[in-house]
Amino acid sequence: MATAPDLAGAARPGRLTEPERALAAVPLSPRYARFGDPFHVPVAATPLREPHLAHFNSRLADELGLPVEAGHELTAALAGDCPWPGYSASASVYAGHQFGHWVPQLGDGRALLIAELRTPCGERRELQLKGSGVTPYSRGLDGRAALRSSIREYLCSEAMHALGVPTTRCLSLIASAEPVQREKSETAAVVCRVAPSFVRFGQFEYFSYLGQPETLARLADHVIDEHYPHLQERADRHALWLTDVVERTAELMAQWQALGFCHGVMNTDNFSILGLTLDYGPFGFMDRFRQYHVCNHSDFDGRYAYGAQPEVGQWNCSHLLRACLPLLSAQPEAARETANGILEGYAPAYHQAMRRRWADKLGLREVREGDTGLVNDLLAVMQHGRNDFTRTLRHLADIRTDTDGPAHGVREHMTDIEAFDAWVVDYRRRLRAEQNTNDARRAEAMNRVNPKYVLRNHLAQAAIEKAEAGDYSAIATLFEILSRPYDEQAGREAYAAEPPANQRDIEVSCSS
Ligand code: AMP
Ligand code: MG
Repeated sequence: MATAPDLAGAARPGRLTEPERALAAVPLSPRYARFGDPFHVPVAATPLREPHLAHFNSRLADELGLPVEAGHELTAALAGDCPWPGYSASASVYAGHQFGHWVPQLGDGRALLIAELRTPCGERRELQLKGSGVTPYSRGLDGRAALRSSIREYLCSEAMHALGVPTTRCLSLIASAEPVQREKSETAAVVCRVAPSFVRFGQFEYFSYLGQPETLARLADHVIDEHYPHLQERADRHALWLTDVVERTAELMAQWQALGFCHGVMNTDNFSILGLTLDYGPFGFMDRFRQYHVCNHSDFDGRYAYGAQPEVGQWNCSHLLRACLPLLSAQPEAARETANGILEGYAPAYHQAMRRRWADKLGLREVREGDTGLVNDLLAVMQHGRNDFTRTLRHLADIRTDTDGPAHGVREHMTDIEAFDAWVVDYRRRLRAEQNTNDARRAEAMNRVNPKYVLRNHLAQAAIEKAEAGDYSAIATLFEILSRPYDEQAGREAYAAEPPANQRDIEVSCSS
């Protein structure tokens, strides 16, 4: 295999070996690569001991125009054993606010951009390995990712995609015999993540902190050129672009809330400039509903609790805007005023998105005054009764309006029956106030927004334990189930059940 990286990008088929040609069949589109210093530095992946494919996402491979079965060459490239033909891998530098504290320099400490492709549909996709060895930004850490956390990222990012949530995706999961030391000795793995861009809020913070407005503008204009081409020629493009980033972030927070998803480490370096869910670590889908559920065992103050996420999203946007002040105006006062105006758009965007999502979850066609109270009352019943978030919402579709009798089906899952029955009276009144209500049609629509299957911690944990013993079959099963989260899947009730009592509070920490 020819290993000489060719930053000019276009692979030259005549000089490639046969297997390389399979990879090179997908044209490279090295736009971010062209920037080079000071945005990123070239770094080669460090091969793993005995790498082997634990799962391959054939559907995504097909979308990318790659072979739907990973042959030897593709597996080698995805393991970091050889570079992608015609592309030089790199690690990006960034900064960030971690748990509220400013960290002036971070960066891809264990991630590498290994290719930028143009898909058969003409879209650009970046491929990034996570766990591929040390980089100049590893800060003394090992540059590796444990198999355990790689499985969680692999399964959850694809589950989120199937749920309709903007997210980075995963193409492959490669396990290995490479030991890594965390709380205990584990083995390392590498996932290949895929996204239109991996640019993070923290990259803007980094160049702003260094006092490099021109570099900051180059990065912003790269994002605009690639993702907002309609704004390219406008003098106010930076303000318009940031307005959209703020709206996307608010929309993403509404989606997380509506699914009971907790990210766990909402640091600004983990926030995507495209509003994608990024950097899956100690995340969790809530089992029992608690407004202040904290999924990350290392988050002692509950900074990133479920109920705090929307506000943290806003806080992170405020730091992105602060970093981008030099782009908004040469006059500091005018720049601040524009930034404040943009930030003021966050709350209405979030509340509007949230009201619409909850209306859909309750099967309401219209968003009406008073609906927020109905939602809050339901959440209070759930919190008091310690009810399962996903199951309770899924079962609401059983409630009928052609009777005033007990709401069987869902009622049997509730704890505080009296409070729930009282809520159902209000809910039925609200449903009947809509024109053309039809129980069957409403149930169908609700089942398209209230998932039956989410990646509960205990399910991930069972797949991890099997994989650690060398059996990857549970990963494949979960992958399939979670690719259809809204469908009833015969024989798979166990995957929609609450965790058994002894697996209710599996602790996940930042260690990964
Ligand atoms: P995270 O909390 O996973 O988003 O990571 C925060 C920063 O630490 C990022 O810059 C990561 O690249 C880096 N990092 C985390 N774990 C490791 C590791 N095992 N080796 C090198 N860098 C790491
Ligand atoms: Mg991170």
